[in-house]
Amino acid sequence: MVANNHIEVWERCLQIIKSNVPDAVFQKWFVPVKPVSLEGSTLTIEVPSDAHMVKLEEEPLIDIMAKTLKRVIGDSVRLVYTIRFPKTTISYNHQTNFQATNKSIPIPLNPRDKDVINPFVIPGIQKLKINPNLNPKYSFDNFVEGTCNRLARTAGLQVAENPGHNPFCPLFIYGGSGLGKTHLSQAIGLKVNQLHPDKIVLYVSANAFQTQYMNAASGNKIIDFMHFYEQIDVLIIDDVQEFVSKPGTQSAFFHIFNHLQQAGNQIILTSDVPPGNLQGMENRLVQRFRWGLSAELLPPNYETRVKILKAKSANEGIVLSDEVVDYLATKITGSVRELEGTVLTLLAHSTFNREDITLELAKKVTKQIVNIDSSELSLERIRTAVCDYFKITPELIVSKTRKREIVQARQITMYLVRNLTKASLASIGSQMGGKDHATVLHACSTVSDLIDTDRNIRKYVSDLERQLKPGK
Ligand code: ADP
Ligand code: MG
Repeated sequence: MVANNHIEVWERCLQIIKSNVPDAVFQKWFVPVKPVSLEGSTLTIEVPSDAHMVKLEEEPLIDIMAKTLKRVIGDSVRLVYTIRFPKTTISYNHQTNFQATNKSIPIPLNPRDKDVINPFVIPGIQKLKINPNLNPKYSFDNFVEGTCNRLARTAGLQVAENPGHNPFCPLFIYGGSGLGKTHLSQAIGLKVNQLHPDKIVLYVSANAFQTQYMNAASGNKIIDFMHFYEQIDVLIIDDVQEFVSKPGTQSAFFHIFNHLQQAGNQIILTSDVPPGNLQGMENRLVQRFRWGLSAELLPPNYETRVKILKAKSANEGIVLSDEVVDYLATKITGSVRELEGTVLTLLAHSTFNREDITLELAKKVTKQIVNIDSSELSLERIRTAVCDYFKITPELIVSKTRKREIVQARQITMYLVRNLTKASLASIGSQMGGKDHATVLHACSTVSDLIDTDRNIRKYVSDLERQLKPGK
C-alpha cells in the first residue's frame, strides 16, 4: 500500500517493527528515530547519531526495517538518513536502497550544508538559526485536556505566551512514562514558535545534551558548547533524570541554567520523578529546579481515557463504536502511550488483515497489551486501578485529605505498590503526595493487619490484585 504522510507512515512502520523486536531494542533504536519527509517512495528519517545509523544498518535491524518499509511504502522504497548530532560538523545524507544488496556500513553521501544541526561549532555573530527539533504532531491541539494534566497544560500555555516572563521558570513537568511529558514540552516549543517567531527555541533530550557535552569535552569545544546553549531563548530539556550521576554534564548545565535564568530566558524541564527525588543530582541544581513550578502529569481517568481514544482514532481515520471505546477505556488504565498503542494496533488489524473493529477484536488486542504490560506494573498503573475501583480522582488520592475512604485507598495503593513492584519506600512516598518512607511503611503494615481482620479490606485488596496481576 502507498501512504503519503511521513509521520503516519513511520507510525505504521513502528507498529509493525514493535511486534517484531524486543521492547528494549525498540525503545533504544526505533523510538528516537524521527520521520522527516516522504517524497514518492523515499522516506527520510532523522537519527540521533552516526552510531545510531550504523546500528540500524546492521543485521537484524536492517532486515526488519527493509521488510516493514516495503510492506508499508511499497517495493520501490528507499531510505535516507539525516543525522541529528553528527560527529563531524557537517550533517549528511546516507541513502539505503533496499533493492540493491546493501548490507555494508554506510559511507557519507551528499554533504548537506543547510541542515547542520550541531550549530555550536559554527562561529558567527548573526542570530542563530537552528532546527528546534520539534515535531508538529505534538501540538497543544493534539493534547487532550483532562484533570490529570490540567495544571501542567495551563502553565505550559502561559509559558508559551510569555516565555521567560511568567512565574514558571523553570517549568518542571514530571510524571510516569507515557503520560505526555515529551508531547507537552514539545507543544510549548511549537506554540512559542508560532506566537514568537523571533525567539530561538530548542528541544533537546537530556541524552542528546549529554552526548553533545561529551563530544564537546573531548574535542576541546566546551566554550562553543556553552556559548551555543546560552543563546537559546526557550530551552526544553526532556528527561533530565538522565543527568543523574553525570557530574560533568550537571555542572555544564548548571552554568547554562544560571545564564539563561539571569537573561530572563525560559527553561522547561521534564523528568520521571519530582525534583526532590533526583538522587544523584547536585543539590544546587535540584534547588533551582524547584524555583519555578513543578507540575505533575497523572494517569488519565476514565473520562479522559475516552476522550483520548476518540481523538486518537479520529486522527487515524478509524471509527470506534461507543461499546469498543468503553471497553478499551475500562481495561487500558495505564498510560496514554498504551491507549495510543491500542488504537494503532487496531488500525493495523483493520488495514492489514481487513478486519472490522468489533468488540471481539478489541478484546483480543487488549488482552495482548494488558498481558504484556502486566509484567511491568508501575505505581501509576496501580494508582489508577485503585482510583477507578474506589471511584476517586488521582488528585484526591495524592492530596493531603484525611477523609477515611481516601486515606484507606491511599494506604491500599502504597501496600500494592510495595508488594507488586520494586519501587523503593522513598519513591512510593514521594509519588503518593510527598509522604516520607516511614509513612509508607506504616501504611503497608496497617493494610497487612486489616487484611487479617477486616473482610471488606481483604476483598478490596484481593479484587485489585486479581485485576492487576490476572495470572496470580
Ligand atoms: P512521556 O514523554 O511522558 O513518556 P509522551 O509525551 O511520549 O510521554 O506521550 C506518549 C504518547 O502519548 C505520545 O504519542 C503522545 O502524543 C501521547 N499523549 C500523551 N498525553 C497525551 C494527551 N494528553 N493527549 C493526547 N495524546 C497524548
Ligand atoms: Mg518522553
